[in-house]
Amino acid sequence: MIATERPGPAGLLAWEHERFERVTGQLDLEPATICALHCAGRSLIVELPLQRDDGSMTVLTGYRVQHSNALGPAKGGTRYRRGVELDDVTALARLMTWKTALHGLPFGGAKGGVDCDPADLSTRELHEVTRLYTLAILPNIGSDVDVPAPDIGTNEQTMAWMLHAAGEAGRSDPAIVTGKPVILGGSLFRAASTGVGVAHVAQRAWERLGNRFADAAVAVEGFGAVGYWAATELHQRGARVVALSDITGGVTAAKGLDPAAVHAWTQSGNALVDYPDGETIDGSILAVDCDITIPAALEGTLTDSIAERVSASLVVEGANGPTTPSAEAILHDRGIAVVPDLMANGGGVISSYFEWAQNHQRVAWPEAEERRLVLERLDRSWDLLAPQPFERWRTEALAIAIGRVTDAMALAGQVTANAHRIVR
Ligand code: NAD
Repeated sequence: MIATERPGPAGLLAWEHERFERVTGQLDLEPATICALHCAGRSLIVELPLQRDDGSMTVLTGYRVQHSNALGPAKGGTRYRRGVELDDVTALARLMTWKTALHGLPFGGAKGGVDCDPADLSTRELHEVTRLYTLAILPNIGSDVDVPAPDIGTNEQTMAWMLHAAGEAGRSDPAIVTGKPVILGGSLFRAASTGVGVAHVAQRAWERLGNRFADAAVAVEGFGAVGYWAATELHQRGARVVALSDITGGVTAAKGLDPAAVHAWTQSGNALVDYPDGETIDGSILAVDCDITIPAALEGTLTDSIAERVSASLVVEGANGPTTPSAEAILHDRGIAVVPDLMANGGGVISSYFEWAQNHQRVAWPEAEERRLVLERLDRSWDLLAPQPFERWRTEALAIAIGRVTDAMALAGQVTANAHRIVR
């Protein structure tokens, strides 16, 4: 048990904790090192007094957690979502530490968010929330300190507002955030990077399991920044996207859906669930008949009861934390492989790293070059996991990441330098 942990964490924090303890239990680490690896370095809670359009005042709560800077500046997304709270943000910051380490990036891990529903706020109000949030966390962020990016409920517009607010406060620096619009120093591949990477890893994993990717039937839960690009790339690679969903519900078509046509439908103001060339899904999309299922919406959507009904033989985690530990155990018992989030959705932070590096050098790379380099990095990480039995993919990914962070902390004299071989 980690002495510094708050009692009774629920949800994401509990799942992250369980997985961390399982992996560190297999590594030859001092208890003090395990404790130092796990505690969040800095957690900031800010209150944001927002004047609503009707003149009333509401106070929103925002968070920024920097878990680790052992390998470089902390790095992680910013989510705007009703119910965001410190435990979830802490768990997600830790996940970012392991993700950046797994992919060999010179970053630590962070996460932030504001407890609000963007759909309830006007554009002016969203801009004001972002300005207040940026100013509140500004003393703690910076291109060499902690670099925010978009996540659920935020996008390149949010990053443009953050950049502008920082500039107005005398902190003009394009590398202070990633996921910016291209005209403000964003990279050409960043928007597509997470989803394209998810599709790429799905293909690698499906082939590793001895299957042909062409015509593989895939379901994608969530049709946002990650799900849209993943579905588009899967379609372009010859897979059949047989089901898509978003907050409005899901549709399925055995002959396949064209993600571009579904996107045009939703962009015209229609609900995805009403898409005419498919049947409405009754229940969870993750249980739809298919070969590969990709949860790319929220954490915790793949629960025990859904795990019992998954028909796919491969789950690829596009979202952060979609599969609970007990659901993963059920999937493994049923012979279903899971590519963990830190591996599958790492394309986004790899691309963010390239955006940050381009900003520092004041250069802009061609999109094709960045895409090639992102996929090459994903391949490098995947090649470390692929030889393992699929039941060990998450454990192996975490063990590699924790080993690298431990090495860095030992070199800095923060923890005892000792071996951390995997005890199998
Ligand atoms: P987003 O806000 O752009 O999209 C989320 C999508 O999920 C939307 O289409 C929404 O309608 C849908 N959704 C919400 N509730 C749903 C439900 N109950 N069932 C089905 N769909 C539902 O967010 P995003 O940036 O695409 O992030 C999705 C996930 O991927 C999150 O877990 C995020 O942390 C993770 N992630 C994002 C990035 C990135 O670059 N954006 C990188 C790595 C990981």
